[in-house]
Amino acid sequence: MVTGEVASLNPFLIAQRQLDEAAGVLKLDRGLHELLRWPLREFHVRIPVRMDNGSVRVFEGFRVQYNNARGPCKGGIRFAADETVDTVRALAAWMTWKTAVVDLPLGGGKGGIVCNPKELSPGELERLSRGYIRALAPAIGADRDVPAPDVGTNPQIMAWMLDEYETIVGHAAPGVITGKPIPLGGSAGRTGATGLGVVIAIREALAALGMDPASTTASIQGFGNVAQYAAIHYREVLGGRVLAVSCWDHKDRRAYTYTKKGGIDPRFLQTITDTFGTVDRAKAEQAGYEALAGDAWLGLDVDVLIPAAMENVITADTVGRISGRVKILAEAANGPTTPEADQVLQKKGIYVIPDFLCNAGGVTVSYFEQVQNAYNFHWDVAEINRRLDEKMTKAFHAVHDAAKEHKVPNRVGAYLVAVERVAEAVKLRGWA
Ligand code: NAD
Repeated sequence: MVTGEVASLNPFLIAQRQLDEAAGVLKLDRGLHELLRWPLREFHVRIPVRMDNGSVRVFEGFRVQYNNARGPCKGGIRFAADETVDTVRALAAWMTWKTAVVDLPLGGGKGGIVCNPKELSPGELERLSRGYIRALAPAIGADRDVPAPDVGTNPQIMAWMLDEYETIVGHAAPGVITGKPIPLGGSAGRTGATGLGVVIAIREALAALGMDPASTTASIQGFGNVAQYAAIHYREVLGGRVLAVSCWDHKDRRAYTYTKKGGIDPRFLQTITDTFGTVDRAKAEQAGYEALAGDAWLGLDVDVLIPAAMENVITADTVGRISGRVKILAEAANGPTTPEADQVLQKKGIYVIPDFLCNAGGVTVSYFEQVQNAYNFHWDVAEINRRLDEKMTKAFHAVHDAAKEHKVPNRVGAYLVAVERVAEAVKLRGWA
């Protein structure tokens, strides 16, 4: 049995608790509720990899196919040292609600390998990526389950995985995986899509609160894929100022928050950031940036907080540090807020844009990538961003309106919209 603090930080137990609350409001039938609390299918695999020194190391991998009532499962693959099956289950559940809230004809899934990608050479990474696909090839496919990048993986890894899959099946199958490099069928706009989607959701929230975007400030946790483009678009699309970003520094084994008077320049910081989202501290300080403590981003006097790094950062212990000025919490990361902290945010009157709505831009453009692959055709970035804006804006208002109508927090509102759609598909199929 899992108890106390451990239970409250287990992402899958949190995902189940969140669903339970929405199931209560929706008065979901017991059998249907039970079906939606668990993944439909899980794969646990062992991947032997020949290391550069000639030895063999066996890695543990997962793929969770949470629900495919609305369409093929969809969700990224994480390479992370602290990956657990419960993290993957939680992320697969959130993918199910995410594809439903933006109304894509897809289900939810997620994958992961327990490894530290920074400690692997490019050759070892390639052999590990190909091994994962060999282990799972029969279970994935454009009409079954479509992986994509997430924390610790990137377009190059997707390219190796695609190549391995196509070699196994013996024909081109670009729709098996998204987040590919553009020459292999990747979509324009995919790299920045999650960050742009976050900023579109913030734009709509600011409008709902009657705030002028150009006079707002934001603070961001993380400076990886999502955070970089959230910062860039916050500045370039909304005209607001980003006062801080933070990141984990592998060399120093600690996190830093980078700030600069008048706001940071995310495009400059990008030029001194490695592929794992670590800013070069010496170069940042040379350019006039101050490196504060890693958690300083959370306590800054800003209008919008954007956690865009990892789970469980806004907890009962940390939520009290949020400034009274903060009006919006835009959850760009998956699962950044615990249920206990959620209650405090509600009392403080902070407008929460819940994770699976806020960061749905990535999967939305992944879906556009699949559509383009199916037609063997390319849309330009303007077309992608226009379609992304349409999907995110519509999803935002569906959630905002549901929360208002049922007088519930936005997170419950997002669950109401998503769970109702998945439940309808499950019922139509006669599963419950
Ligand atoms: P990433 O690996 O590119 O970046 C992660 C960032 O977090 C890095 O800058 C890292 O240094 C930073 N970080 C790690 N620990 C930290 C700490 N203690 N303090 C401050 N910063 C820290 O990952 P990403 O793709 O940007 O994903 C970030 C989050 O967004 C994850 O929760 C992921 O699941 C979610 N997400 C990503 C996508 C996507 O398209 N990439 C889509 C939806 C959701």
